[in-house]
Amino acid sequence: MMDYRSDTVTRPTAGMLQAMMEAKTGDDVFGEDPTVNILETKAATLFGMEAAIFCPSGTMTNQIAIKCHTQPGDEVICDRLSHIYQFEGGGIASNSGASVRLLNGNNGRLTADHVKEGINNPLDIHKAVSRLVSLENTANFGGGTCYNFADIVAIKAVCQAHNLSLHLDGARLFNALVAKNETPAQYGEVFDSISICLSKGLGAPVGSLLLGTKTFVQKARRVRKAMGGGMRQAGILAAAGVYALEHHVQRLAADHLHAQQLAAAWKQKDFTGEILPVETNIVIFEVKGRYTAPQLVALLKEKNILAIAISSTHIRMVLHLDIQSHMIEETLAVIHAL
Ligand SMILES: *Cc1c(COP(=O)(O)O)cnc(C)c1O
Repeated sequence: MMDYRSDTVTRPTAGMLQAMMEAKTGDDVFGEDPTVNILETKAATLFGMEAAIFCPSGTMTNQIAIKCHTQPGDEVICDRLSHIYQFEGGGIASNSGASVRLLNGNNGRLTADHVKEGINNPLDIHKAVSRLVSLENTANFGGGTCYNFADIVAIKAVCQAHNLSLHLDGARLFNALVAKNETPAQYGEVFDSISICLSKGLGAPVGSLLLGTKTFVQKARRVRKAMGGGMRQAGILAAAGVYALEHHVQRLAADHLHAQQLAAAWKQKDFTGEILPVETNIVIFEVKGRYTAPQLVALLKEKNILAIAISSTHIRMVLHLDIQSHMIEETLAVIHAL
């Protein structure tokens, strides 16, 4: 099976498994797992931020960040397609008691003007207190689109002027960094907190990191414990994360090329409608005429290709390190023959 459903489906490589087997471990709830400590320090240094905390999932790192930045009744500003709102089980409400202002961005990306419109007047007692802006880069349901860094800097200025914190859901930030030739340190300078996933394109089996100031991460450790996310000999998992950061970042460019190749093939089909701009490792396209999206997904499955119908009209395919060039060739041949 060629599995394009998500970049979360990757299996650890031989080198990664070796690193996991050799990991030194301890009890991370006591702060004594040396490999977790190495991973957290490595990530914090990479981003030029003070501290980091290793968590089981990107949902947890986002939810912890939101809880640390807000009080119940505060409002979080984000794009309407945001993972934090759409795909985290209503966690903003249940974990933080915060309300959400959804904005209509450009394929998942906001501008400073959007954000300005979303801020409530702090003197208006009818309104929730705007407290946090959360951006997503790359924007998953925008089709893996990336921000222009200048737009982020402009949003930061609005946040500073209105006393709002700025969080980044960077589940696929490394895809954006590679696509835009940017550095982690640029992002570390602008955001108050950053979540990155090791278990997506970077190919680790489990794990995400939340970065911020020392005080913020200290607070995050308490919230992680309360959410049940304190892990013990987590060094086995952290070793995979260290390996991923060292070996699997530059290769993301291959996934981006593969995504372009798939999109070009779909574009030639008369049943393909709009294709969202392909900037990284995600291809989201509309299906019309001959097939519904679920019908086309079923047909592809018969040909050993797994994809996801994200609605009755749209399909998502995601590239990752377990999809190699020869599989792309095979997939392109299937698409051409449809
Ligand atoms: C995958 C993802 C997350 C976190 O997902 P987990 O499965 O909980 O690790 C967060 N944000 C975005 C944009 C994602 O794609």
